[in-house]
Amino acid sequence: MDTIAAKRDGQSNTKQQLEELASGAASGSIPDYQLSAWLMAAYLNGLNPQETADLTLAMAQSGERLDLTGLPKPWLDKHSTGGVGDKTTLVVLPILAACGVTMVKMSGRGLGITGGTIDKLESIPGFRTDLTPEEMIDQAKRIGIALSGQTPRLAPADGALYALRDVTGTVASIPLITASILSKKIAGGADTVVLDVKCGSGAFMKTLPEAEALARSLVDTGKLCGLKVSAVITDMDQPLGMAVGNRLEVQEAVQVLKNMSEGPLFQDNSPTPRILPIHRFRSLCVELAGHALEVVGLGDRSAAESTLAEGKAFAKAQEWFAAQGADIDNLGHDDTWKVSVEYLGQSGIVSRIDALTVGEVVMSLGGGRRAKSDSIHHGVGVLCLKSVGDQIGHRESVFIVSARSKQEGELARERLLSAIQVDAADQKPNRVTGILRTFE
Ligand code: URA
Repeated sequence: MDTIAAKRDGQSNTKQQLEELASGAASGSIPDYQLSAWLMAAYLNGLNPQETADLTLAMAQSGERLDLTGLPKPWLDKHSTGGVGDKTTLVVLPILAACGVTMVKMSGRGLGITGGTIDKLESIPGFRTDLTPEEMIDQAKRIGIALSGQTPRLAPADGALYALRDVTGTVASIPLITASILSKKIAGGADTVVLDVKCGSGAFMKTLPEAEALARSLVDTGKLCGLKVSAVITDMDQPLGMAVGNRLEVQEAVQVLKNMSEGPLFQDNSPTPRILPIHRFRSLCVELAGHALEVVGLGDRSAAESTLAEGKAFAKAQEWFAAQGADIDNLGHDDTWKVSVEYLGQSGIVSRIDALTVGEVVMSLGGGRRAKSDSIHHGVGVLCLKSVGDQIGHRESVFIVSARSKQEGELARERLLSAIQVDAADQKPNRVTGILRTFE
């Protein structure tokens, strides 16, 4: 196949070659061994900006495209590259919809340590995540918000190529990640996309230069494809908020939507005043929603803050959950064992809570999948009671594990304690919060 040989030899592929590749991947007419060979050649030799845009459009056109015509503008899609405890979608979508933005979004399931919004929503009794394209449009018309799992009808080339990338060591390629993400956004009908590129130990992109390269590629490719894309980089070195684990994360998001300043996730036994991890999560949601409102010209951070504080975002979330078959006041029955993990070292300041380790613990508790076919337990997870910069004392509780059995919870203890690093009280670590960089 000329397309493979050209890429192997470091040459560019033509638009036509990439269209044939994407349609062959979608229809199954190109065998997996040829697609895999091309993916490895593309991984090793890269794609230039024009090739990345051509591949993105070819993948977007490999199936149907949602037609949002007739829905109130602006239309926006928000996407995160994924991280540990990242449930921002559950708060940002209702804030934006309550501000008059039409949010139609397809989300994925989690793979590895990064959870997926669909898994989180499936932990709620009754929540339907299999809306048809027609149902999504109808619901977005009625309430301004619709979220569903990926349907094979949209961007099917991505489904086929992603499955091969996953088993051929070709996931971590900036042009391939760019085409994968943006093709789904284009097929989902959006004209404006805000992308949250996570950076740190619990993310695909471990370092700031890597995250910047992905953000730049997403914005530049988006422009070449006729999309308006704004990308921000946010921290994923420590878990986001308190909860890591599907149902726990929905509970945390709903608590933020309800503006509950008390309640199980807000309870603080620490002897010293501090910013609870849930406040760090809330503040990132407000910042992201404010940024999205600026991108579509409907407001800013203070509009996002008041929409949340006045309960309008919660009212929108209630409508959204009800439209998809769930009751926001019934998030399901907790059937897990609780194990409290106490810090055993000397008092000091928390300088690190490794997101990767916490994500791996939640996966080993059964909250995430190693392979796409694995099933998960929605109730398990970890609550983080501290964030970087907090004081911590000997024997203070630092994590609460929710596990399927006492034994599994106890097994998580040692691993979780290895995630936390504490420095002497006179060392002040950098508290990293909010948006670190913006790319337009
Ligand atoms: N998310 C996607 O949708 N695709 C990738 O390739 C990586 C992250």
